[in-house]
Amino acid sequence: MPAVTADTLTLPRLPELPEAGTAWRGVRRIIQARKFLEGEGFQVRRPFPGVDLSLADPFLLLDHMGAVEYGPGEAKGAPWHPHRGFETVTYIIDGAFEHTDSIGGGGLITDGATQWMTAGAGILHNEMPPQDMIAKGGLFHGVQLWVNLPKALKMVQPRYQDIKARDAKLLSSADGGALVRVIAGTLAGHDGPGVTYSPITYLHATVSPGARLAMPWPEDFNAMVYVLSGRGTIAEEGRPLEEGQLGVFGPGSALTMRAAAGQPGNSAAGWEILVLGGLPINEPISRYGPFVMNTRQEIVQAMEDFQAGRLGQIPAEHLAHRSSADEKL
Ligand code: MN
Repeated sequence: MPAVTADTLTLPRLPELPEAGTAWRGVRRIIQARKFLEGEGFQVRRPFPGVDLSLADPFLLLDHMGAVEYGPGEAKGAPWHPHRGFETVTYIIDGAFEHTDSIGGGGLITDGATQWMTAGAGILHNEMPPQDMIAKGGLFHGVQLWVNLPKALKMVQPRYQDIKARDAKLLSSADGGALVRVIAGTLAGHDGPGVTYSPITYLHATVSPGARLAMPWPEDFNAMVYVLSGRGTIAEEGRPLEEGQLGVFGPGSALTMRAAAGQPGNSAAGWEILVLGGLPINEPISRYGPFVMNTRQEIVQAMEDFQAGRLGQIPAEHLAHRSSADEKL
């Protein structure tokens, strides 16, 4: 159950789109997320990258974390590691992640908040559950999205944006049956808070059982829907899409989707979906682990720069904590 809710009747509404004369996008592909272990061993569901990365361009990766109910001592994170060449967007629906990085950015990302980190030329960061969550356990549910940077911006200065839950722009579907949280980009003239180098739109919607969500969508953006929980159908043809599946739309200027009237127990409030798309960058991609560049030579350079400490340093106070912990062993 997402932390950010609202009475949709009080919110600005998406426009009613005419059934005839609207270029509704059809379904190009349905992709089943695969399961991986990340960081210290927490499970993610990953709909992309898959066989064809160009389908998702400008996005590189989507990791769906949870929803999971951690017991005491079970919560896991991702200790210090580097990135170069793209941006990471971490959206926490329930629970919390604590972020610290080598440029002094940091804070608690919790209950509807988003952290936007531009790795650019290089950054080191860690993403860990807060101490009280490790001690007590609890519900954790979040998403990390990687957004590519074009060649000309791969080596920009790293940047950190802390977007509070209350900063998301809240909208409702035309009939009030769906709540839409605009995390980044613009939807029907309403701007979300995230500032992006690569033009994207990124939304989290809760669609009440049986309700329809329709929206205009830029023709030059790709468009995808990922299901966090529940079930529904997408496009005019009504293709079923359920938890852990990604629907990739074809060309057109509007999207339509509908929540199933009957929802599973973990999604009683409705169909929980991410709707996302952006302007494809259309450049070659060379990637290795946490580095995403244009050529293999640039990947080799990134590894050398990381080894030489040129992607940043772990802040001294963290090293101090670590060495005092080590001394106790
Ligand atoms: Mn990371």
